[in-house]
Amino acid sequence: MTTRVTVWNEHRHEQENEAVAEVYPDGIHAVIADALREGGFTVETATLDDPEHGLTEAVLAETDVLTWWGHRAHDEVADEVVERVKEHVLDGMGLLVLHSGHFSKIFRELMGTSCALKWRDAGEKERLWVTDPSHPITDGLPEQFVVPEAEMYGEHFDVPQPERLVFTSWFEGGEVFRSGCCYHRGEGKVFYFRPGHETFPIYYQEEVRQVLRNACEWAAPSDDGPEVYRGNHEPLEELDSTPEGR
Ligand code: ZN
Repeated sequence: MTTRVTVWNEHRHEQENEAVAEVYPDGIHAVIADALREGGFTVETATLDDPEHGLTEAVLAETDVLTWWGHRAHDEVADEVVERVKEHVLDGMGLLVLHSGHFSKIFRELMGTSCALKWRDAGEKERLWVTDPSHPITDGLPEQFVVPEAEMYGEHFDVPQPERLVFTSWFEGGEVFRSGCCYHRGEGKVFYFRPGHETFPIYYQEEVRQVLRNACEWAAPSDDGPEVYRGNHEPLEELDSTPEGR
């Protein structure tokens, strides 16, 4: 069975800002969904203004990996939907948090830190270096690649130390940033990927699209893993628990 991805987008900038609508006329989610369909994934999209933000229990039950792009309306995401997404991540659903999603409720909830960072919107050059070349998220990529015009995000990025740091960005203005961070939360895998400011055509860029595909592949749950039981447990071996035996 192919991996089922739900691409979630706040979808506000595209409807309210002409410059953004020119870059993403059908929404950022449409372009991300295209990139993933090219990789053979089964893709659905959902947006903030859909009922329950398009993230009903039924939708999440059919989702292997959820991608998240939000920026100006993080506070409008209902807490009960955040809780539902979190439960699915802990149960094994993969989560890709993109760009300004660093401040989303779901990412801050899963990280437990402020997730704050430096930023500057000056359309400067970003160079992403692969800092973990054996990681599957880097498959098919060059050692480094350039995003010609980007919003700068700089350290310190207040997140837990990533379990694997896949990309580190350098910016024209001198800052650096941990741009590709891997985590496990419960049985789910979480990947934060930095590029993707709404006024630049970053999700059309081939290297970025390759990362999205690789990350969905990596974050997808394994169907072959064992069933896990938690709670009070009968011993598997005979216990010698008599007072004399102790
Ligand atoms: Zn941005």
